[in-house]
Amino acid sequence: MKADKLILSEAIWTGLGNETISGGIAIKQNKILYIGSESLDEYKSEQTEILDYKDHLVIPGIHDSHLHFFMSSVLNSGKVVLLYETKSEEECIELLKKEAEKITNKEQWIMGFGWYNLLWDNQELPSKASLDEAFPDQPMFVQSSDAHTVWMNSAGFKKLNITKDTPDPVGGHYSRDEQGELTGILHETAGMSAVAQVYKFSEDESSEMIKTFIKHINSLGITAVSDLSMMAVPGGDLIPDHVYHKLLKQQELNVRIHMYPTLVKDMTRPDTMRKNYQFSKLQTCGVKQFFDGVSSTHTAFLSEPYSNAKSKDDVGTLTISKEEMRDLVLQAIENDYSVRIHTIGDGAISMALDIFEEAEKKFGKNPHLQHCLEHLENIQEKDIQRLKDLNILASCQPAHSMIDPEGIEADLGQDRIRLMWPFRDYLSKGVKLSFGTDSPVSDINPFESIYNAVVRKRIDGTPETGWQPQQSISVQEALRAYTWGSYQTCQRTEELGTLEIGKLADLAILDTNIFTERPEKMIRTTSLLTMIDGDIVYKK
Ligand SMILES: [Zn+2]
Repeated sequence: MKADKLILSEAIWTGLGNETISGGIAIKQNKILYIGSESLDEYKSEQTEILDYKDHLVIPGIHDSHLHFFMSSVLNSGKVVLLYETKSEEECIELLKKEAEKITNKEQWIMGFGWYNLLWDNQELPSKASLDEAFPDQPMFVQSSDAHTVWMNSAGFKKLNITKDTPDPVGGHYSRDEQGELTGILHETAGMSAVAQVYKFSEDESSEMIKTFIKHINSLGITAVSDLSMMAVPGGDLIPDHVYHKLLKQQELNVRIHMYPTLVKDMTRPDTMRKNYQFSKLQTCGVKQFFDGVSSTHTAFLSEPYSNAKSKDDVGTLTISKEEMRDLVLQAIENDYSVRIHTIGDGAISMALDIFEEAEKKFGKNPHLQHCLEHLENIQEKDIQRLKDLNILASCQPAHSMIDPEGIEADLGQDRIRLMWPFRDYLSKGVKLSFGTDSPVSDINPFESIYNAVVRKRIDGTPETGWQPQQSISVQEALRAYTWGSYQTCQRTEELGTLEIGKLADLAILDTNIFTERPEKMIRTTSLLTMIDGDIVYKK
């Protein structure tokens, strides 16, 4: 059979072993017809397009297995003020002011995203006072980088009809001072419920933002994502499935999207989505729910108190009770859904594993489902083994480990941090591991994440000796977690995740050989050519 395209390279990494091969890949329509070092003559015809990439590294397409695609697209669009680099409340105000100058409609929301007070010189949470002074009329909605906290002004509260008498929602609260006045900070579900009301765009606006973001990620070799519900509140998954579907029908969806709406008692939305989307490029693969918060605000649920405990029982909080979670998970599994649970603290991880263990006893092992725990920041040794025994995949984000390692040390203490983001231990014990970024919480760039996992340093090279370097893994192991590992989450390793004969032709050709270059060079890697289903979706 003749090929449509032949890719030639001296460095093809199939994903199967650690070595690269010199040879070629023959592609017919959307599949790999041949890959190897033998002569490609029999695949060549006059119509065959030859893509000779010399010594450039060819890899399977990268799959970010945990992110929030719509929010990432919005933040990439320039419609939101990015505050990731700020060092103070005042600096945020200055950046927001610049945006406000451009906006004439005083009713319109101004959105900001990315502040993180624990990285500020003064680590206190900001308040509405500073926003009110700068923006007395314009409603402001300013989210922290982990998306768990919102900072708002009085005009914003007014627009959302939130007053000091508004009751706190389940799983969150409006911060109040001693007089009961709103301070301007919304925690967890309180802020999350507001997001869906503020981030409103027309279908056309949404399509444009998504298309632009897809182009960006294609330039980084990404060919697939898992889009997880952003918020547990109703209507808050922020998965615009109808827009994705429209782009698919217009043949403009140049990424495979695997969707995980929120797991709630009423399964109408997941059921409808599962019925409607079972395409190769757009499918509903399971459901997602939150079990705890984040370590930095002491909302991640631990088995023992935080090392810098603010009170005697400072162990964090579950966002829903174990009984509620148990009922939800059992209901989902009974209805053939793979379940992904946000678990950051070791206490939440243990309880989630208890629930999966009970489910296995009740329903038996089901090879058609792949349950995952998300984030798993600190874990007990015994639970690493349980992940393996219960076939629960560890869905990890290496970039999270480098947001604030010093803060984590203070929160968790020297003993526990040895088992934080323990990628090496997962692989040694045979635990399934996938990588992602949780974008927009961390930058979508997969090469920064691989760098984080391999050298356990921030991208500025600190800490010099690496943070908990005993948990480092090799570049090949990290890339495997980002390709084959990520396709385990949606159970598509039969057709994707490695470059093999008969598999779908999703791949990237990189400008940097990340296996042979020194790690610092890896960070700026981009794709020269990205292919999905045998189609070139990006070319430099
Ligand atoms: Zn997330």
